Amino acid sequence: MKILLAGGAGYIGSHTALQLMAAGHEVVIADNFDNSCEEAVKRVNELAGKEAVLYEADVREKEALRRIFREHSIDCVIHFAGLKAVGESVKEPIRYYRNNIDTTLSLLETMAEAGVKNIIFSSSATVYGEENPVPLRETMRRGSCTNPYGWTKYMMEQILQDASAADPELSVVLLRYFNPIGAHPSGRIGEDPQGIPNNLMPYISQVAVGRRDHLTIYGDDYPTPDGTCRRDYIHVMDLADGHVKAVEYAVKHKGTEIFNLGTGTPYSVLEVVHAFEESTGVKVPFEIGPRRAGDLAECYANADKALEILGWKTTRNLEDMCRDTWNWQKQNPMGYRPDKKQ
Ligand code: NAD
Ligand code: UDP
Repeated sequence: MKILLAGGAGYIGSHTALQLMAAGHEVVIADNFDNSCEEAVKRVNELAGKEAVLYEADVREKEALRRIFREHSIDCVIHFAGLKAVGESVKEPIRYYRNNIDTTLSLLETMAEAGVKNIIFSSSATVYGEENPVPLRETMRRGSCTNPYGWTKYMMEQILQDASAADPELSVVLLRYFNPIGAHPSGRIGEDPQGIPNNLMPYISQVAVGRRDHLTIYGDDYPTPDGTCRRDYIHVMDLADGHVKAVEYAVKHKGTEIFNLGTGTPYSVLEVVHAFEESTGVKVPFEIGPRRAGDLAECYANADKALEILGWKTTRNLEDMCRDTWNWQKQNPMGYRPDKKQ
């Protein structure tokens, strides 16, 4: 099959591109490099031993999308394109709504024109309301998001579900990711955040490689076994494999289906720090700071539905996630751009 990856040069998109090509699919990537670079795609091609077709394009621009749909017979779209920094979304909500909602609308409109009927969407565990008990199931209430980024995901899920209700031929798969970390085991591709990382694992690995002084753990007074927050960390390669299964499912079904992509096993911030130190042999100095606004004590998946329906489950553990993150970070201390100044 031929799959269009909107935002496919980014962290999750690049790993998914590789796994799709390894599974025998053809990949077309459209990305404006807002948070990524061409080097990532070059390395994916090297690892795959095949070429993904690359368009430098803003996915909001319908003419750019029309050209892609004219030049390729696309079987399925995977929509990764979006802005994803929670704190930035609070400061620049309009930019977030404009980019994330418009990419979705432009994709749906041009897919309809081109007769493309299958779309998989990168959603997030953040759409679950904070009052839900853990583990989170797909049927639980959504809403009460704590920031504009979360609301964009909530709204895009709604838009996609409404589109599928109006077009019985449309197949929509909403994938709710938990906490993707790790990298391809070669260390050639990985997560390359711009500026100071917001997320835990890139922060840890930048401390380990000497780019940052120490980690600040946001609070140790939560109602969890060691007082630090617990999350469902998932290896990005497992997540990528989940997309391969989702594509195979999407093309055979109609309507909307929602899947959690997580491991179902939570780890605390302190457990992640210790696992990183153990699997890499590198110390990660940390201090305990105040809680971060909007953080929940615990967030983890019930991932039974993805196993039952997609036949997918994770196979990589926390040690693999830490080792592969470190392998990427130490080979690429400044990410894809060695001249980067931060
Ligand atoms: P990323 O920033 O690495 O990838 C997103 C890609 O989209 C980037 O390459 C960026 O340049 C591109 N992009 C953004 N706006 C675009 C536009 N208008 N036109 C074309 N390209 C555009 O992020 P990621 O971690 O790979 O996340 C992929 C998707 O998964 C995002 O939608 C994100 O919100 C979602 N998600 C990520 C996480 C996570 O923790 N990484 C968790 C849940 C959901
Ligand atoms: N965290 C932390 N220090 C950091 C970054 C994150 O203590 O510098 C904690 C954060 O409070 C949360 C967990 O690590 O409990 C995961 O945070 P991340 O931002 O990676 O993901 P989230 O689950 O918030 O989307």
